Amino acid sequence: MAPRIAIVGAGFGGLCMAIRLRRAGIGSFTIFERAGGLGGTWRDNTYPGAGCDIPSHLYSYSFERYGSWTRRYPEQPEILAYLEHCADKYDVRRHIRFNTEVVRASFDGARWHVGTAGGGGETFDAVVMAVGQLNRPHMPEIPGMHDFGGTAFHSARWDHDHDVTGRNVAVIGSGSSAAQLVPRVAERARRLTVFQRTPNWVIPKPDAAFGPAARLALRLVPGLQRAYREWLFRYMENTLHPALAGGWSAAVLERRAREHLRAQVPDPELRARLTPDYPVGCKRVVIDSAFYPALTRPDVDVVTEPIVRIVPGGVETTGGTHEADTIVYATGFLATEFLAPIEVTGRDGQELARQWTGGAHAYLGISVPHFPNLFLLYGPNTNLGHNSIVFMIECQVRHILACLRELPGDGPLEVRPDAMTAWTRQLDRAMGRMVWGDGCQSWYKTPEGRVTNNWPGRATLYRRLTARPPLPAYRRV
Ligand code: NAP
Repeated sequence: MAPRIAIVGAGFGGLCMAIRLRRAGIGSFTIFERAGGLGGTWRDNTYPGAGCDIPSHLYSYSFERYGSWTRRYPEQPEILAYLEHCADKYDVRRHIRFNTEVVRASFDGARWHVGTAGGGGETFDAVVMAVGQLNRPHMPEIPGMHDFGGTAFHSARWDHDHDVTGRNVAVIGSGSSAAQLVPRVAERARRLTVFQRTPNWVIPKPDAAFGPAARLALRLVPGLQRAYREWLFRYMENTLHPALAGGWSAAVLERRAREHLRAQVPDPELRARLTPDYPVGCKRVVIDSAFYPALTRPDVDVVTEPIVRIVPGGVETTGGTHEADTIVYATGFLATEFLAPIEVTGRDGQELARQWTGGAHAYLGISVPHFPNLFLLYGPNTNLGHNSIVFMIECQVRHILACLRELPGDGPLEVRPDAMTAWTRQLDRAMGRMVWGDGCQSWYKTPEGRVTNNWPGRATLYRRLTARPPLPAYRRV
């Protein structure tokens, strides 16, 4: 009998798992989705200008080439439409249980009990967690923020009922989300103040709409989409990864970022404040061509003095008070708190949160000792700073599918301790070469400095590791 599988989350990961299961002839799965719609981060992030800085043809499933991309880099509505299209085409929508939040999962020695908010629950043979890394907004704790007299919201929870036209807007944060929304908000606001705590390296985004000929060719010429995608993938592997590993392209990337800054920001004083003092790639590089020009507008201020408190009429820094009637917290996500707040209890009552006290870790980012038949998508150490996460998700789904095919067998599958140890050693060795460790704080790592989010190797190495037959690394429990 086919195993019963629970998938938690209907974003890129959960949908990919579902589609591959269906294509493997396994229909005995349920997708639990907290929200009322699918799409995960691409359903949540609807701020003006939201999009992806990985090219459209690479930021998509290898098995579902899409003729409808209108731009080189996809914007949020297009990505969401793509995911809706995939869900319909592969007929997985009927497996999704919307508005059903999973709050706990516990293993009873043979099967998993999946508990949902409101007290419901069901039993499964295996659980695939596909909740992503960037799903819980990080709201900073700034004194006075609850006394603010205007409207405040997080970038990932954009308040579309609040029109920013003619407003005094404060944007706190200057990462990728801020870089995308600031130019759009600046066009409408009366005044916009960007509060930057740490500058980011910014490189241009060579975005453009595909012309009718290019779109037709990409849709109709056999092999063209595949070749274009392969070229994008190789380019990122061969030029960007070495930069993150302190290799030959680090200097090239930094020069490109400095040129971009010089070309777009004529004022040397502002330029100095926008120049990072840490190695390029240590924090996620911002890929955007509209951010710097927006910061040079006469109606936009960049404030770099530390924020002291929020007051009813604005934001107070060590340099004074900046009036605002709208605050946008572009302050990122609780990225290192994998799976939280779901309570996961494995074999012998082991709690996952406790096991991960020093930082989340999992074999291939997928499997955790003491948690048999539990699999993670986009889990610890599988984020990339240089290529498409969708590629990584597909590698993980292939591995998980190979494991699920072995079920029920002679019992649940758990990663072997020796496989876990070897993996951790390999990871630590490779991590030592990467640029993320010293010199900056980022969402890639815990406050103690352990990099829990990123994969240090090339994406092709990860593909090789996940493509191996899985069973030698697992035991039956
Ligand atoms: P982020 O990169 O974590 O940036 C958060 C920003 O908020 C940082 O500038 C941070 O400053 C600031 N911040 C946080 N707490 C603060 C506080 N208490 N006071 C002042 N400033 C504070 O988050 P994000 O911009 O949402 O992006 C997250 C990731 O999502 C990106 O790195 C990327 O992987 C993905 N993303 C991609 C795109 C794209 O494709 N273009 C767009 C959006 C998001 P510090 O740097 O000093 O911590």
